[in-house]
Amino acid sequence: MSTAVRAPLGRLHELADGVHAFLQPPGGWCLSNAGVIAGPDGLVLVDTAATRSRAEALRTEAEGLGRGPVKTVVNTHSHGDHVFGNCVFAPPAAVISHELAGPEMEAAGMGLRSLWPDVDWGELTLTPPTITFARSLTLLVGDRAVELHHVGPAHSTNDIVVWLPDARVLFAGDVALPGCTPFCLMGSVHGSLAALDRLRGFGAETVVGGHGQVSGPEVFDQTERYLRRILGLARDGVAAGITPLETSRQHGVGDFGALLDPERLVGNLHRAFLEIQRPDLALGTEIDVPEVFNEMVQFNDGRLPTCLA
Ligand SMILES: [Zn+2]
Repeated sequence: MSTAVRAPLGRLHELADGVHAFLQPPGGWCLSNAGVIAGPDGLVLVDTAATRSRAEALRTEAEGLGRGPVKTVVNTHSHGDHVFGNCVFAPPAAVISHELAGPEMEAAGMGLRSLWPDVDWGELTLTPPTITFARSLTLLVGDRAVELHHVGPAHSTNDIVVWLPDARVLFAGDVALPGCTPFCLMGSVHGSLAALDRLRGFGAETVVGGHGQVSGPEVFDQTERYLRRILGLARDGVAAGITPLETSRQHGVGDFGALLDPERLVGNLHRAFLEIQRPDLALGTEIDVPEVFNEMVQFNDGRLPTCLA
């Protein structure tokens, strides 16, 4: 049905003994990365891709390591591009996420598909977590500790990161998006800044973001610089009595035009405006996401944001 341009299916890249990133360049909307951690009798995945064919490519690559089947899936957060592939692995795999992720997955359903109807999503069944936690949880994968920590609200309400202290590898989910525009519409700008401080504290040498290329800890500074600009623009916009969309049009993407998905500026400003105007609201409180998505399309001169999934 579709003539959509698609990025190639993802491939595995070894980061350390038994630790791999499944990368889907160039990143951007719905081209999410995943992680594969090999234990003595099976695999732990970090996220499961957005479409059936991408999740199956992840399974083929992961099982091709010859280290057993996928036993456990960790979801870094509830968004469809990170969890839709769960159904390819679970059951029998267990699915672990933050305790807020399950309810958010159920509420959002498969709604992401309607934003990009030309994507070949394939047959997908919403597959919520079977194990959840509030603050942190450590998986023991052979001799390796795999630490899961809730750092949200940041990109979403329920962001967790996966930290491997022995390999100094951090799977940061969408809290860090090397080469892509940060996105806090469904989370928190102030919460993201707090999360970045926590991420710095791990002392990672290798950072696998939820999208984009493998990075080092410099991505935290780049992300912070972007978010501080957002807060500054939002303060000016609130003071001037103009809307987030008007603020976006007045100031544009500034120094950040090289990042993918620049239209996220509008969504980030919506969240920042709300945090400035209503600091009493809980972090991560809901905004009308489809409405803001429409404004991102307007900011793009009527073009749908680019999705190469
Ligand atoms: Zn996300």
